Amino acid sequence: MKTPASDLHDLATQRPDSLDAYWMPFTANRQYKGAPRMLVRAEGMHYEDVDGRAILDGTAGLWCCNAGHARRRIVDAIAEQAATLDYSPAFQMGSPPAFALAQRLAALAPAGLNHVFFTSSGSEAVDSAMKIVLAHHRLRGEGQRTRFISREKAYHGVGFGGMALGGLPNNRRQFGLQLGGVDYLRHTLDLSRNAFSKGLPRQGAELADDLERLIALHDPSTIAAVFVEPIAGSAGVILPAPGYLQRLREICDQHGILLVFDEVITGFGRVGMAFAAQRFGVTPDLLTFAKGASNGAVPLGGVLVGDSVHASFMQGPPQAIELFHGYTYSGHPLACAAALATLDIYAEERLFERAIELGEYWQERLHALQGLPNVIDIRNFGLVGAVELAPRKDAPGSRGYEVFRRCFHDGRLLVRCTGDIIALSPPLIVDKAQIDQITGTLGEMIRATA
Ligand code: PMP
Repeated sequence: MKTPASDLHDLATQRPDSLDAYWMPFTANRQYKGAPRMLVRAEGMHYEDVDGRAILDGTAGLWCCNAGHARRRIVDAIAEQAATLDYSPAFQMGSPPAFALAQRLAALAPAGLNHVFFTSSGSEAVDSAMKIVLAHHRLRGEGQRTRFISREKAYHGVGFGGMALGGLPNNRRQFGLQLGGVDYLRHTLDLSRNAFSKGLPRQGAELADDLERLIALHDPSTIAAVFVEPIAGSAGVILPAPGYLQRLREICDQHGILLVFDEVITGFGRVGMAFAAQRFGVTPDLLTFAKGASNGAVPLGGVLVGDSVHASFMQGPPQAIELFHGYTYSGHPLACAAALATLDIYAEERLFERAIELGEYWQERLHALQGLPNVIDIRNFGLVGAVELAPRKDAPGSRGYEVFRRCFHDGRLLVRCTGDIIALSPPLIVDKAQIDQITGTLGEMIRATA
């Protein structure tokens, strides 16, 4: 007779009886079921699939497991928290891990971002930030500031707010109905000037002046905030030229417009400091985060809010609820315990610094792929990278998917494809031999696909 525990173990590690019921997100479900990729375990830099094969993780899961997988300290923190306080109501009630984590995050964040609103995901963080921005302006008697500006090719999650800010056509056009009042800056990808740049592209800071054009189109006093990812991740790692983000900051300041950085991908060491804001030396008014905050182990996201925005809420009678917004799982004790353990690991193992220390080697190995068939650009910064392939005329996106598929099945390497771009973001514990393996296997599979 099996014990319930071993039943659970079998369920977690063996091929499921049926693939019918689960509708997978952002997945070609019918194609997937023809050759399912099924992960059953993870440790350190590797996944293990249902056939017992070790798969090197070139993407930190989905840009989240920055400390590598199944870290004992995080596992123990989650287990202990679950046994101590599994859940506490999020409204009018608190638990110590949420307060402790908020304090730790404020200390890590750029100066002035001292308040944290917790969510369970990046999408919720973005929608929360939009609502905080709108309410802030109304509290200050500027309720006419309701327009947002974001960017082409941006990804800000899948809520109705984030979808409206998003600039990837596929993520919008299936749905028809959109929140209005959003304008889009031009994106900063320019292969004609910047292909194969090492690190930040040299050209393109002037694209920030596009913001002046959009502001001029409307009365500046109608614009609430500009949302940008400091590095656009989901669109395939699009980097800003030096000075670009500074320029956005200056223009926002001139017109009383708030600047929001969506650091769901760039946060927690991906580019060598806690946040890209610090690496680029530009401080936003609000900053959204998720993913690496809890090493992906328990869903957690949030918004870091600057002092002056926060202050506009903390007025009036103290018994009044300052913000009519929140989630059942805001400040979830398990998520916060996981995040506290994650931040300990980041600090003790100096993992953020590793993204700088290894950055040059990463750059060199990645750029060695230049010259392979169909490779039209290679981009890198910190421990993030992308290899862009020329699309097939008859089937755009198919080449990227084919390389991704081969990497997994033949190369035992997890990469991410978005269209014909292969994105890479290994856990920050990666070593040089594993960097060689990631870039070597990717090169082989690009050749095999040609
Ligand atoms: N913003 C950015 C910049 C992201 O990259 C993502 C996820 N890739 C999100 C928001 C949405 O996060 P989630 O999937 O946790 O909702």
